[in-house]
Amino acid sequence: MIPDKPRSSLLRIAISVALLAVFSFAVYYLVAYWLVSGRQTPPASTPPDTAASTEFRPEWCAQLVKRLPTVSREMCLNLGLQPTGAVSVKGFPILARDYAADGKRAEPLRVLLLGGIHGDEPTAAAVVFRWMEAIHLPIAHSMQWRVVPVVNPDGLFATPATRVNANGVDLNRNFESPNWEAEAPKYWQQRTKNDPRRYPGKAPLSEPESRWVHDEIERFQPHVVVSIHAPLGELDFDGPAEPPRRFGRLMYNRIGVYPGSLGNYGGGHKQIPVITIELENARQMPTDAETKRIWRDMVIWMSRNLQPGAASRAAN
Ligand SMILES: [Zn+2]
Repeated sequence: MIPDKPRSSLLRIAISVALLAVFSFAVYYLVAYWLVSGRQTPPASTPPDTAASTEFRPEWCAQLVKRLPTVSREMCLNLGLQPTGAVSVKGFPILARDYAADGKRAEPLRVLLLGGIHGDEPTAAAVVFRWMEAIHLPIAHSMQWRVVPVVNPDGLFATPATRVNANGVDLNRNFESPNWEAEAPKYWQQRTKNDPRRYPGKAPLSEPESRWVHDEIERFQPHVVVSIHAPLGELDFDGPAEPPRRFGRLMYNRIGVYPGSLGNYGGGHKQIPVITIELENARQMPTDAETKRIWRDMVIWMSRNLQPGAASRAAN
């Protein structure tokens, strides 16, 4: 047994060295793994900055005013627009501004004002910027406003600008009016002869921009929706009230009922009055005087003809 003694202690040393090596290797491996995996977060595919941003960014105005007649960068920056959290197909934020009512009425008239749902009608977005400057009119103060000057930014930014959004969908044919599935594709094929500018989409509310407008109507519960277009030079009206006769030079003229349009959905289906304003020119702004007259006539008409109690009862 005595000669074995040095051998067994040698064996013990060898085992200890082996264990230490295995242990060291394990520690080294764990530390290396921790470092590498630590560096890999955040994941490679973060969403675009604009989509994630909840803070207003001045570059949004810089981009917008390049496409908007008579709207300066300073004017845009001073309007207090905020991202709504919703973004277009290409990730540009849908911007909005809220104006609280003056509190003199128990239930103020809630107005949802939408511009630029068709991207190739830049005046229909620009005029909303101009009106936001004029919103300080005392009569407008009695109302609660949610103003969204550019509903279809991707169409506005396209070269050339497009009526449709980045998925090629006419947002004003994409609202879920009754029997959309049967009527909207049929109308598009038979009446427009598959006009790509009037494609209603594969399903109602398939687009982020129209979905946002739809959801906003549910959240904000407007008593009236105003949607600005061009260039037909007239007014249209859907919903439970007497149509306005004239704003500025624009006269009331029943344009028609289209499957999937906002007027059909809001005015016909939801029973919320929808005023559609068609400016006379999609690229050239009305004069300053005419811009103000349309605004003033519209606000006066709403204050005289739309009663919050009656409208909200009708909407329910
Ligand atoms: Zn339009």
